[in-house]
Amino acid sequence: MLTINPVTNHTNNQRLNFGQFLPRKIFSDIRDIPNMKCGCCGHDTFTSDETTAFIKSFLAGSKRALENSAMEKYRNSEAFTFIQGLSDIQPKQTVRNLISIPENQAKIKTLSGRTQLDINMIGLIADGITVKAPRVVQKFDKFREFFAPEDAEILKVMDFYALKYPKKTFSEIFNMPEVIEYHKGINETNKKYEQVGRIEVFKRLKEFGLKLSPNDRKALQSTNTDAIKILNNFSFQPHIKKELLYDLYENFAKQSEGKVRKKGLFKIIDDIPLIGFTPDEFIVNHVSNRKTDIDIVTYFARKLQATYEHFKARSKNGADVKENIIILCGKCNQERSNLPYPFFLRFHPEMLQNLQKQLNKIMMFIKHGKLTGYDNYPMDMKQNVLGESANLLRPKIGDYLKFRKELAAKKLERLEAKLAKKETKYNNACTKLDEINSRINEIEAQLRQLKKEKRVIKENYDATKDEVEQTRSRLEQQTILLDDREKELLIDRTTNANLQHKKRKIKKLRP
Ligand SMILES: [Zn+2]
Repeated sequence: MLTINPVTNHTNNQRLNFGQFLPRKIFSDIRDIPNMKCGCCGHDTFTSDETTAFIKSFLAGSKRALENSAMEKYRNSEAFTFIQGLSDIQPKQTVRNLISIPENQAKIKTLSGRTQLDINMIGLIADGITVKAPRVVQKFDKFREFFAPEDAEILKVMDFYALKYPKKTFSEIFNMPEVIEYHKGINETNKKYEQVGRIEVFKRLKEFGLKLSPNDRKALQSTNTDAIKILNNFSFQPHIKKELLYDLYENFAKQSEGKVRKKGLFKIIDDIPLIGFTPDEFIVNHVSNRKTDIDIVTYFARKLQATYEHFKARSKNGADVKENIIILCGKCNQERSNLPYPFFLRFHPEMLQNLQKQLNKIMMFIKHGKLTGYDNYPMDMKQNVLGESANLLRPKIGDYLKFRKELAAKKLERLEAKLAKKETKYNNACTKLDEINSRINEIEAQLRQLKKEKRVIKENYDATKDEVEQTRSRLEQQTILLDDREKELLIDRTTNANLQHKKRKIKKLRP
């Protein structure tokens, strides 16, 4: 497990293990899984967050940053005096942190435009300044075995300089005239030695060809051309180049028509000088590309980081898809370059176990629901790996397949239970529907009956109404008649009375 120092505000004995803070997290990228081991060498790797934090942990506090020779140009400026003032209060804070504090930001805004620009520049320079050389190499101590031999060589040279100039940072050391001159000299000698040595070897190969048949001589010439291509490929490390050259000439010997003295041929090949990336070249590059302290730290820290390895190399049309990706440390990824896996595995037989361990971890994360989007990764990745490694790497995924089958069975069970529930519900609904339907029929029958009754009642009513009408009109007629009779009667009575009266009159008149 990699433990790294925290970014700021912690003392050195308070080690932080970033992985411990992420137990409940769900990942969507295998690079972010904590404590992933390289699928090739099996070493622990940093996640990208851990790498960033690790690099930041090298940043110098403001006091040290302001002392650095890179600040020379600004030492007499108003900006420098201003930051110096802030640093006197909090010397361990980085310049970046100091000028980012809102209170200080407000103060900076009151300064002249020129000074504000200078403060920005000082901030940028300080972003590249690390702690002093001894502390830098010390922080890499526990990772020494993780580095490729040539990087380990660079660190050894850095160890030496850390002892020699303990008060300086590496960029300061590398830019010292005596240091840069020395390494420039060695670097040029190396290059010359390599160049001269190659010319010598190819001269001998040409002489070797003179003893061969014309066809074999021609084949050797084309083999030599291929050899030069390998030698000029900067992404191949020396031991890789050597193995590729052996393969190349072995192949030539095998296909030759005459008898080729292989021993003699390989003796010549052995003499090809293969120097690779030297500490001298590292230092010369650093100075000529105006790199900073933090660039040095970044160079080494990136070698510890979990990186995507395209199993089928991207330069050979390998797709940028999950199943084509495994995790390698920066060191192994660089070494693999775009070499075919059957060839690369000659140098890393341990990859057979370590890739399986990595896959086991990934499968465990998937099983526990902590890695999303990778459900088919083990199967697809296996296919890809088998194909690209000519069946040398055979990932075992039996347990995972079993897990998937069980999962599928459980899912089916759940679905079946769900279906059964729905069926019951459906049946219940059907019964209810039937009930309602029969009730509707009943009500409809009732309705029909009621309508019929209504019709009869209406007919009765109408008939009765007619009768009433007739009776009323008859009554009216009779009333009129009665009235007439009454009038007649009245007239008759009056007439009668008159008559009586007259009769009585007459009676009186009679004697
Ligand atoms: Zn590795």
